[in-house]
Amino acid sequence: MPEHILVVEDEPTVRSFIEEYLGSQGYRMSGAGDGAGMRVVMEKQDVDLVILDLMLPGEDGLELAREIRSGSDVPIIMVTGRADTVDRVVGLEMGADDYIPKPFEARELLARVRSVLRRSQRTAPAREESAARQNTAAFAGWRLDRGRRHLSGPNGEEVRLTSAEFDLLVAFVSNPDKVLSRDRLLDLVYGREMFPFERSIDVLVMRLRGKIEEDRANPTLIKTVRGAGYVFTPEVVAK
Ligand code: CA
Repeated sequence: MPEHILVVEDEPTVRSFIEEYLGSQGYRMSGAGDGAGMRVVMEKQDVDLVILDLMLPGEDGLELAREIRSGSDVPIIMVTGRADTVDRVVGLEMGADDYIPKPFEARELLARVRSVLRRSQRTAPAREESAARQNTAAFAGWRLDRGRRHLSGPNGEEVRLTSAEFDLLVAFVSNPDKVLSRDRLLDLVYGREMFPFERSIDVLVMRLRGKIEEDRANPTLIKTVRGAGYVFTPEVVAK
C-alpha cells in the first residue's frame, strides 16, 4: 500500500505541483485548500503524512497543526513562506516534525518526506525485534518501551509523544548521565541526511520537558548544561 500524503495548501498551482510530483514518486495523494477540506479527508481516510502550508485563509497552519496534534501523532511537514525563523520554531512547538521554506526544490521536498516517513515507520519493524531484545527501560517511575514506542508515566498513564519527541527521549535514555551536545542530539534524532537548525533541538527538549517534567521551568530529568548541551540525569534500568 502506498503511503497516503495530504497536502493542505490554498494556492492551486503549488498544491497540484506537490500532488503531481509526489504522486509520480509513488505516493497516494490528497489535497485540501483549507482546514475544512483537511478535516474532510482526515475524518474519512488514514493519512500517513500531512504537508501543511503555514499561510492559509481562515485558520492558519499553526492552528491546524495544533488541532491535528490534539488527536493524532501523524507526521507533519510545515511549509513556511516567511523567512522568519520564529514561525518555524513556533511550527515545531505546535508539533510539526519538520519544516520546509518556500520556495523549495522538488527533490528537497521528496528528501524530507522520505525522511519523516522513515522515522515514523521505525515502529513497524521494531515491533518484531522487541520480543527478543530488552526494549523497555525505566527511569524515575517512567517506563519507555522502545519497540512499541510507548511511554507510560509514574501513575501508569500513557503519554503520547510525536515521533521526534520519542526519538529524543530514546537518545537520552540510551545515554544517561552523559552530556549530549545539540549537534549529537540532531544526529541521534534527525539523522545525518537532514539539516534542521540547532534551535530545533531546544524546541524539542522544551516539548519533551512539558510532557515528562513536573515543572518544566525547573527540570529535574533533562538538565541544561550551559554551553555544552543537555544531560539526562535519572538512573535508567533495563527491564
Ligand atoms: Ca498559502
